Order: sequence, then structure tokens, then C-alpha cells
Amino acid sequence: MTNMNAIAALSATTPLVPFQVERRQPGQHDVAIDILYCGVCHSDIHTARNEWGNTTFPVVPGHEIVGRVTAIGAHVSKHRIGDIVGIGCFVDSCRTCVNCAAGEEQYCEGGVAWTYNSREKSDGRPTYGGYSTAIVADESYVLRIPTNLELSGTAPLLCAGITTYSPLKYWEVGPGTRVGIMGLGGLGHMGVKLAAAFGAEVTVISGSPTKEADARRLGAHSFLLSSDEAAMQRHKNHFDFILDTVSAPHDYNRYLQLLRLNGNMTLVGIPPEAIPLRANMLTGRRRSLSGSLIGGIRETQEMLDFCGHHNIVSDVEIIRMDQVNEAYDRILSSDVRYRFVIDVDAFRQGIQQ
Ligand code: NAP
Ligand code: ZN
Ligand code: ZN
Repeated sequence: MTNMNAIAALSATTPLVPFQVERRQPGQHDVAIDILYCGVCHSDIHTARNEWGNTTFPVVPGHEIVGRVTAIGAHVSKHRIGDIVGIGCFVDSCRTCVNCAAGEEQYCEGGVAWTYNSREKSDGRPTYGGYSTAIVADESYVLRIPTNLELSGTAPLLCAGITTYSPLKYWEVGPGTRVGIMGLGGLGHMGVKLAAAFGAEVTVISGSPTKEADARRLGAHSFLLSSDEAAMQRHKNHFDFILDTVSAPHDYNRYLQLLRLNGNMTLVGIPPEAIPLRANMLTGRRRSLSGSLIGGIRETQEMLDFCGHHNIVSDVEIIRMDQVNEAYDRILSSDVRYRFVIDVDAFRQGIQQ
């Protein structure tokens, strides 16, 4: 075991503070990674503040990890020392259930080992995320990063990128599809870039009028202000597909009405509260409402390669490790353009000086 510098939430009501995590020595199938950048996802906040009621403290969040391989086990074949690699929301799964066999490890029936707030499959020890200097993981759950991509903007692809890519693919969004992306935050802005790259007609549905120019710059063809009742009425029965990335409770019925016949709305935002649903919002136009959780390893690699090919990265604001608490407050007031990314390399250098 080696101690690594990190920051952790020790309780739901206190800010993150410096903390040490133990990392195992790399086993035969493991890679050891020096973390360079880690994105700040809204799920980190839900977890650090125990909003989903499932947090075990202390928790070291962070599941948008890009780093450099520093050591490999004897049986590692996929990665070499010096490679730039990524880790997303999970570091292991049962590998044998029907969903793992299908490459949908995020839905593992045997229980996923999440990157933080979870337990290692191998030894049952707590997992700790990317707000730390280094991580050790099985090579099968480590992604290759295309060499042309800028690294700070690549980190958010590991969660925000795959979480939006996967449902856009599943629902076959492409040329001729009218897509609405709800919420222009970390997930939403990646949803806009990806849906536009797939050739869809993209509308941002946002509560923030100040984001209209950015929405268009990111690739949206139009902008719908959700508080503008007349504009909402005009968009009734308009969209084929809506991706809802909103993190806070909101009335799903208002947005379901915007779907045309057979339209689907997929929830990726996970507000902790239950939200009532009116059946006739679905029955009236044979609409469907579904959800989606990140993506499997194979699809995550496909997404990274797609982003490499199209030179797509996240729009980021780089912060220091000691600015994470402040970043959480800014995310909660929708003041993020459009993902905070921690410069973990600078944090490590600072410690070494
Ligand atoms: P984020 O950067 O904070 O973006 C969320 C956006 O939602 C905000 O920018 C804002 O957009 C909108 N919003 C916030 N509060 C709102 C309110 N009260 N009413 C209406 N709109 C509001 O968060 P994120 O990192 O993209 O994550 C979004 C959600 O997805 C979180 O719940 C997170 O836990 C979840 N998530 C799910 C998965 C998955 O696999 N399903 C993966 C990652 C994250 P506007 O200003 O444009 O309105
Ligand atoms: Zn996330
Ligand atoms: Zn499984």
C-alpha cells in the first residue's frame, strides 16, 4: 500500500479537506496511473453531500480521470508505461453476468465497483476517486486516450461525454432528428457537441437566457428558454428526442409535451427527489420516458475515438485542488462554462516542492 495525497468530504455538511488515501501496489493485471486532470461532475456534489442517501464517508470524489501510466503488472497487455489513459465512473464489475457479457458493465447484475463511494471487487477495500494524485486499476477498465486531444478538455469525456453519447446512439439520433438538450451544464454542453456532430437538428432547452450565444457556438441550431411560456407552447409536439441533463427537481410533464408522436425523453440528470408524472403526457402521442447511465467500456472507447476523430473536447475552466469547494458552489448556481477540471498535476508538483 502507498499513501497518496487527496481531498475528501468527511461528512455531508463540511467542505472537502486534505486527506490521504491508500492505493494498492499494482497486481498482475493492474496499471498504476499518475493523475493529470480530473473533471468535477455534479454527481460528485450529490455524493459528497449525501443527497442520494448512499454515501459512505470519507469520500474522495472524481470520476473523470486522465493520467499517465507509471507502472504495469506482469500480465498487462493493453497499456504501456508512459501511455496517456483514462478512468471513468467504474473500475471493475463481475465480468460474468449477462450485462457484463454484453459490454454494458455499468448495469452489472453482480454489482459495479464504482470509482468512488464503492468497494474494490478484489479485496473489498473502499474505492477513492480522482481528487487524488494517483490511482491503480485493472487494465480492462482503463481507456486509451487519442493522442491528438487536449488533455484537460478530455477528462470530462470520461463521464459527461459517455453519459450523453450513449443515449444519443441508443435512440439513433442523426440527420433529420430534432433533438432537445435540457440543461446547458457539463453533460448538456457535451450533448450539444455530440448531437451536432451526429448531424441532428439541436435545440438547447435552458433556464439561463445568458447561455444562448454559447449554445449556438457549441453547435445548437436554436435555443428555447424554458421560462418563456409562449415559446414552450410553440414547441409542443416538436422534438423526436429530448435528453434531460437537469440536476435539480423539475416538472417532467412540461417537457414531455414537447415530444412529437413516438418521441422519447431520456433522463440522465438524477435529482434526488421523486417527481410526479401524468400518464396522459405519454399516452397522448405514444411518447416514452426512459433513463440512461453512463456507458460500458467498449462504448466509452468508441466515444473517445469518435471525439479524437472529430476533435471534440469539453469546454473547461481549470482550477486548483483547493478551489473545489468554491467550484461546487458555482456549479450549484449554474455558473460553470462548462466543466471545472482540477489540475491534479500541479497539485502533485506543489506537494513535491
Ligand atoms: P451541471 O453542470 O450542474 O449542469 C446541470 C444543468 O441543469 C445546469 O447547468 C442548468 O442548466 C440546469 N439546472 C440546474 N438547476 C436547475 C433547476 N433548478 N431547474 C432547471 N434547470 C436547472 O451538472 P452535470 O454535471 O451536467 O450533471 C447533471 C446531472 O446529471 C446531475 O444530476 C448528475 O448527477 C447527473 N449525472 C448522471 C449521469 C448518468 O449516468 N445518468 C452521469 C453524470 C451525471 P441551464 O442553466 O441551462 O438551465
Ligand atoms: Zn459524472
Ligand atoms: Zn456483471
